Amino acid sequence: MRVSYDSGIYLPDIDVWLDPTARRERAIVTHAHSDHVRIHGCTVATPGTARLIAHRYRRSGRFEELECGERREYSSFAVTLLPAGHVRGSAQVLVEHGGERLLYSGDFKLAPSFTAEPAEVPEAEVLITEATFGNPRYRFPPAEFVMEEIADFCRSAVEAGATPVLFAYSLGKGQELLARLAGRGFEVALHDTTHGVCAVYESLGARFPPYRRLAGGDGAGQVVIVPAQARRGPALAGIRRMRTAYVSGWAVDRSARYRLGVDAAFCLSDHADYDELLEYVRRVNPRRVHTIYGFAGELAADLRAHGYDATPLRDPMQQRLF
Ligand SMILES: [Zn+2]
Repeated sequence: MRVSYDSGIYLPDIDVWLDPTARRERAIVTHAHSDHVRIHGCTVATPGTARLIAHRYRRSGRFEELECGERREYSSFAVTLLPAGHVRGSAQVLVEHGGERLLYSGDFKLAPSFTAEPAEVPEAEVLITEATFGNPRYRFPPAEFVMEEIADFCRSAVEAGATPVLFAYSLGKGQELLARLAGRGFEVALHDTTHGVCAVYESLGARFPPYRRLAGGDGAGQVVIVPAQARRGPALAGIRRMRTAYVSGWAVDRSARYRLGVDAAFCLSDHADYDELLEYVRRVNPRRVHTIYGFAGELAADLRAHGYDATPLRDPMQQRLF
């Protein structure tokens, strides 16, 4: 199966678009993060992703929902979405055509999540894998260990009369943090956006400890979870003493804390780290690999060193065909 890239992954043999960043008549969208979502004529997605897109974007177009594990046949090919373990509803895309299987990872994570459905990894002849953290520098500590650090940070802030403020994506990371804070004795207040996504997660079956909406900026004595963009907005204006922390896989970079001007940075990610990316490729056992996003060139080079036929998928201007 040929693969090209032109503002999104394109399979020219069957005229299928995967996560295109320009509007298409019809596109398969792996999850509801904004870098993967555009308003298409028809969006093929899991019911969870469809619900989250409809919640987050006022104009969301028409949806064709495909349950995870359900194989749907089209004229000359078949599509199966499989859980990707990244955020709620996130999926990998398995395409079968002409006796060949192509798997697109979307954003994924193999380590168990508290809030996303666990990843299921099939075998395929052709693999297109994300490479967000495709550099050996990005090896993440176990989430349980990081959560202990985050809880210590929050506890000492509260004891010092300050409000611990955790900066986390409003879709995925915020919910994962909330779920993992359960049973630690904190009251948690969420930014409006994060709060809204939690309600959708709950409608999709996720379970959380009690939480409330951050109101009037008063979060004293509570753990506050907000997206990083809220930093300069009114949401935090009423909090007098804050201790701030950034929660992301990028926290592996020691400079992250200084660069972002926060008191602490914690490495908790919704993505596979470098070792998981290699493990994923091993499990898919492909004849050909394309890497995309992040460290695509570096990961492809490392995969070639491991004996794979691996090429980064980029260079959108030239529409290269593989
Ligand atoms: Zn994502």
